[in-house]
Amino acid sequence: MNKKLLYLLLIILASCGKGEKTSPDVYFAGEIVNPTSSYVVLYKGDNIIDSTKLDAENRFSFRFDSIDDGLYHFNHAPELQYVYLKKGDSLTIRLNTVAFDESLIFSGVGEEINNFLLDLFLANEEERPAIYSTFRLEPDVFIEKLDSLADQKLSLLNALTVEGNLTDKEVKIAKASILYEYDSFKEKYPFVHRKYTQDKKIKELPASFYDYRKNLDFNDNDLTYLRPYYNFMNNHFGNVTYMSCASDCDLENKKVKNHFHFNRHKLHLIDSIVIDKELKDNLLRKVAFDYLLKAHDSEENNEIFIEQFHELSNNNRHNEEIDELYEGIRNIQPKKTIPEVYVNNSEGESVSLRDISKGKKTVFYFWSGEDKRHFKEVNKRIASLDNKKSKYQFIGINIRTEETSWKGIVQTAKLDPDTQFRSENFEELTKALIIYPINKCIIAENGKIINAFSNIFSNSLEKQVSGYNHNQIAKN
Ligand SMILES: [Zn+2]
Repeated sequence: MNKKLLYLLLIILASCGKGEKTSPDVYFAGEIVNPTSSYVVLYKGDNIIDSTKLDAENRFSFRFDSIDDGLYHFNHAPELQYVYLKKGDSLTIRLNTVAFDESLIFSGVGEEINNFLLDLFLANEEERPAIYSTFRLEPDVFIEKLDSLADQKLSLLNALTVEGNLTDKEVKIAKASILYEYDSFKEKYPFVHRKYTQDKKIKELPASFYDYRKNLDFNDNDLTYLRPYYNFMNNHFGNVTYMSCASDCDLENKKVKNHFHFNRHKLHLIDSIVIDKELKDNLLRKVAFDYLLKAHDSEENNEIFIEQFHELSNNNRHNEEIDELYEGIRNIQPKKTIPEVYVNNSEGESVSLRDISKGKKTVFYFWSGEDKRHFKEVNKRIASLDNKKSKYQFIGINIRTEETSWKGIVQTAKLDPDTQFRSENFEELTKALIIYPINKCIIAENGKIINAFSNIFSNSLEKQVSGYNHNQIAKN
């Protein structure tokens, strides 16, 4: 018999065999070595589909009699990873949390796409430093390097597709994972290139540089939560907003990075271009968070921004979260009373931050027992700020550490227990005080905020606590 025909016959036989076994049920199970939590939670986008507890052997399993084919992710706190599920799949994973992604293996019906997406994810992580070193290069060389990396991955995908084990939707998702990953770097190129070469101007790019933009899809719900796609969209809108501001907007000192203007312009572009509602909501949320958390703009500007956000982003699925953030920031503006939040002292008594700062100039800083290096650096910094010249008291607030473990750490580090407090309710504390980034500190006096967005490592804090800026301290 002709070899090709024989091969074809074998494929048909194999697929017949499969056909008999296929049921619409989806089974997803696994074993977690060195678990870091008792649960595995399965998500579709930001919705929880199901959650399950690990058994005595650290195994878990999910079974669904009807589930939409598509991309999901499973969370074993604090880590998460994708899983693609389709009707008839019977997938088993094994992983060791010591090297979560590297140790993960999928086996069973549905393993091909899942192992492929995972290999892509790991390859992307590995390639990243090498890609960053190519940002220095001229645009045509840069594009050539990226395209050749993409071609390698596409030919692997092609080989897998020829074997015939992937559905059209799986191929689409795998292809998008490859292309959007590399195109994302192209969106960043003008800015990273300028930074690396220390050029004053953005580089002129060849006309074909952004050719891939002809094929962008702003309306594909299957891709909404695909990391390379979402990252691409963020980079893309960062790029087009900058370019459009630079060429069309009347800006003071020609400074594009005016956060207030830039982020409002970005809201408008996303709103006018993105069609898929879920993707649009997520991208607009990111702009709101970037602006509110990083710009530290005036109360008036924040208010204009949030009003505009709501006008544009009607019924955003993240409205509640964004409003809470906005309110939180509004409540800790200069001269306002410190929000009524409580922490525990070393005796286990509950004390309010207002009381701690009563009659005193105070710097509140934050640390967690999980990050030992950070804790060491923070202590070193506080010790240098807390010298005899300083009229401030420095109050450490621990977050996310168990009480006994916290006491042990404070004792071992020989910290003054009178200056150390612990938050029992981290979520409430971070909502009220907007603890981002972790190095942020709050300067307060007599129960009132002076600056809730200072940073313990900043020069301005050093000047302030050493007394140089005494006149700037608000008296009322
Ligand atoms: Zn603009």
